[in-house]
Amino acid sequence: MSQLDKKDPISLYPKPPFPKQEQSIPGLASAMQPKPDHGETSYVGSGRLKGFRGLVTGADSGIGRAAAISMSREGADLVLNYLPDEQSDAEEVRDLLESEGRKAVLMPGDISDEQFCFHLVGRAVEALGGLDALVMVAAHQEVSEDILDMKTESLEATFKTNIYSLFWLSQAAIPHLEPGSSIVTTGSIQGAQPSPNKLDYAVSKGAIGVFTAALAQQLAPKGIRVNSVAPGPVWTPLQPASSDGETVSQFGSQAPYGRPGQPAELGAAYVHLISPESSYTSGTTITIAGATPAY
Ligand code: NAD
Ligand code: MG
Repeated sequence: MSQLDKKDPISLYPKPPFPKQEQSIPGLASAMQPKPDHGETSYVGSGRLKGFRGLVTGADSGIGRAAAISMSREGADLVLNYLPDEQSDAEEVRDLLESEGRKAVLMPGDISDEQFCFHLVGRAVEALGGLDALVMVAAHQEVSEDILDMKTESLEATFKTNIYSLFWLSQAAIPHLEPGSSIVTTGSIQGAQPSPNKLDYAVSKGAIGVFTAALAQQLAPKGIRVNSVAPGPVWTPLQPASSDGETVSQFGSQAPYGRPGQPAELGAAYVHLISPESSYTSGTTITIAGATPAY
């Protein structure tokens, strides 16, 4: 079955309860039960990103892996960024994309570090011979019930990874982006409907929507488009890495479909936002949340 076959979205994927499971940050897709679907066996491309060169952060797992698989199958050559602890997940993605004849270069490293962000973009431009798409999917999430317990160290990890890196990676990339290129950020339904125990994360996700809308205006005269994807609950390592086993086992039960989304259900949105088919789309956020209202 491909992403283009007609199907019932309700019964398409597993529903909670899931097996109770916990991981430590950042978590691995390979350790999840059931395994997330990133489109490995389903996404069929049609040349929508032929000749594109993209840098994808958080590309080892979850939504970033789905974006990478979709972009690659549409013809893009990619640099994949992730944390060193996620090497095994990242190698699975690289091996898949290379076996299909595309370029997929692994560049692990911590994007909460300013210097690394500039280094990453420089090496990506070298490896790909230029850059047409900066796709920022990586994020840090921790859960805390009480603001009084929140440590500056974790606030910094959240804000540097989720917000500062957008500035640093964009600053590094923009001089290389020609008209027709794109920046895509990844927000969250949390930016509009914050959970009380995800205070710093939700604030960071709200900021990403604002960043997207403002930078899109700034870069419009350069012909560079800036858009965002805002997911609802999606079955990725982010959850077992930050929540307790009980919460993970019920993950997605509150969503109108009664299930979380799978990463594979988001890949096409990234492709659309990068592809020249969306030439008049900039400053926009596509919410993908299975009928959960965005506002
Ligand atoms: P994921 O854990 O698979 O992906 C997040 C990735 O972020 C990790 O794989 C890791 O490589 C990367 N990362 C984290 N800290 C980093 C750092 N300091 N340096 C470099 N890379 C770092 O989880 P996911 O759910 O696919 O998350 C992808 C995006 O989707 C995130 O922006 C997340 O906020 C967003 N999102 C997820 C959900 C959900 O329910 N899963 C909901 C809304 C938004
Ligand atoms: Mg990961």
